[in-house]
Amino acid sequence: MAEFTPQPSCADPQDQQSLSVEQARAQIYDLLTPVSSWQKLALREALGHVLHEPVVSPLEVPPHNNSAMDGYALHNRDMQGESYSLKQVGIAYAGQPYNGKVEAGECVRIMTGAMMPADCDTVIMQEHVAVDGDIITVHGEQHAGQNVRMAGEDIELGDSVLPAGHRISPADMGLIASLGIGEVRVKRRLRVAFFSTGDELRSIGDTLEAGQIYDSNRYTLYGMLKRLDAEVLDMGVVPDEKAALKQALQQAAAEADVVITSGGVSVGDADYVKEMLAELGQVNFWKIAMKPGRPLAFGKIGNALFFGLPGNPVSVMVTFYQFVQPALKKMAGENDHPLPLMQVITDSKIRKRPGRFEFQRGILFENEHGELRVHTTGQQGSGILRSMSVANCFILLDEDCAGIDAGTTVTVQPFAGLV
Ligand code: AMP
Ligand code: MG
Repeated sequence: MAEFTPQPSCADPQDQQSLSVEQARAQIYDLLTPVSSWQKLALREALGHVLHEPVVSPLEVPPHNNSAMDGYALHNRDMQGESYSLKQVGIAYAGQPYNGKVEAGECVRIMTGAMMPADCDTVIMQEHVAVDGDIITVHGEQHAGQNVRMAGEDIELGDSVLPAGHRISPADMGLIASLGIGEVRVKRRLRVAFFSTGDELRSIGDTLEAGQIYDSNRYTLYGMLKRLDAEVLDMGVVPDEKAALKQALQQAAAEADVVITSGGVSVGDADYVKEMLAELGQVNFWKIAMKPGRPLAFGKIGNALFFGLPGNPVSVMVTFYQFVQPALKKMAGENDHPLPLMQVITDSKIRKRPGRFEFQRGILFENEHGELRVHTTGQQGSGILRSMSVANCFILLDEDCAGIDAGTTVTVQPFAGLV
């Protein structure tokens, strides 16, 4: 009987054909072109869109000097020593200014946000004042100019408050509204078509027969693309047949800026997919020195950018977040933001073989001393989608790493900001 000889594994550090994650990302960036067309949208519709031009302030914020406290407005020359009395001559409410004079020895009752009377420059908090009819007595240490927000303190006239390429958040919507701006120019949305490949795949509602499974990749892809504000075109499941695949790819490339497929790019499958894609466009089949997500097809079909992601559900998500998401952001005209990484101590041992960069699924948590720690989600198989569901971060382990002991610091990429 022939002896079992182990084949060179995916983890083989001598694998000369492998691309690093960085090399793959750089080649993807090289091939894409950001969208240039734009549209005007009402502010509420603009959430999640990318600004085509900077937002420039047409006014000062705040528009007038105003009180930061409920209290009494006075002129600082009347602030005499530790304790002094003043006569209240009026009241200023937010939106209802006091327009009269304020003479020496006088003050105005003032509410938070109310415009400062012309003769006043300082506000005493009401808690530091004793009131007797219209006479107030100030006590305690006070400072000239305190508790006043100056006109233009937050934003000056003509300030560029948000740059082109900025993706509009809820805070930005408030900021833009505070300038009285009701419409913004944003980049047009990307159109992304995707489908799953695999004879074993069935859609929700179908009955599973022996050897069949439900297609989950179309749902994770749909969710991840929606979070990116892309216009999605779900083309369903396509069987592993050359003619059907070719037709689906041609249709997708004709209708979308980006085409994403899952499955059918691993070693055995890739041969006929490769041959077929060669007829349609310029597509490279990469082996990336990463886990999960080693096989990846990338290139162009017609004018559309093409990503052939691996079939395993976790590989789809990892390759999407590491390659597709940054590429789509760049294509959508969004400015580059390096993803935030953290250094955190792992409280569990992490198993790993050298050779590939790994994106293990982790859980960041606070231990009993209130310190941030991380542990893995357990089994790291690329088919275990639940590992993504329970995780709140990736634990990044570089190619040379040969396992990590508990108590060691590791690099973590929190999902917050990613998803
Ligand atoms: P493949 O890359 O096509 O060889 O697929 C690798 C593994 O992922 C196989 O176990 C497939 O059954 C599974 N797989 C492929 N596509 C999907 C999908 N859309 N949903 C769930 N599992 C899938
Ligand atoms: Mg398949």
